[in-house]
Amino acid sequence: MTIVILTGPPGCGKGTQAEIMAGRLGVPVISTGDTFRAQVAAGTELGRRAQAYLDAGEYVPDEVTNAMVLDRLTADDTRPGFLLDGYPRTLDQVAVLDEFLDAHHRHLDAVVALEVPPDELVQRLLHRAQLEHRSDDTEDVIRHRLEVYDQYTRPLIKEYAGRGRLIPVDGTGELAEVSNRILTVADSLLYPHA
Ligand code: AMP
Repeated sequence: MTIVILTGPPGCGKGTQAEIMAGRLGVPVISTGDTFRAQVAAGTELGRRAQAYLDAGEYVPDEVTNAMVLDRLTADDTRPGFLLDGYPRTLDQVAVLDEFLDAHHRHLDAVVALEVPPDELVQRLLHRAQLEHRSDDTEDVIRHRLEVYDQYTRPLIKEYAGRGRLIPVDGTGELAEVSNRILTVADSLLYPHA
């Protein structure tokens, strides 16, 4: 069973690499960002609550996000493990996840942190804005999302490093180069003694 968190600032390539890594590990990706966007698109009650936060580049309140993730983590497909993309993002979310894992006698194998310098992040996000038309990919909102990340999520890196769980990965370069680094990490988790 493999339980991994993939973290990193907006624009670091998390979503793409999450799919690649989870494919290798044979576990589902649980992406809070994708789930929120799907709920908004479907016009559900949760989507209605989340939309203003997404559009403004703010985090959805912890109690809403935590409830959504805990519900997802009880599904059968998480039995072989799971890869979290975009969760946890606050220390409160870390505590909720810790509690869930403890209660289910499961443990976190690794927190993979994709590292990309700030200037490159802005460039990538602006480029993605042209391709995907996400409501939160305008320049002002992009800058705000990076600030929110620094304030609330960057502290998690230190927290997990302190627990000896952090695996930093260089997120710069071509997609294929980054994927190779990610797959090497996946293999080290699958075959720790190889
Ligand atoms: P992402 O696709 O991961 O960049 O997430 C897009 C947006 O979804 C974020 O800017 C937040 O508004 C919301 N979101 C995603 N994950 C979380 C989370 N763990 N906590 C709070 N809000 C989140």
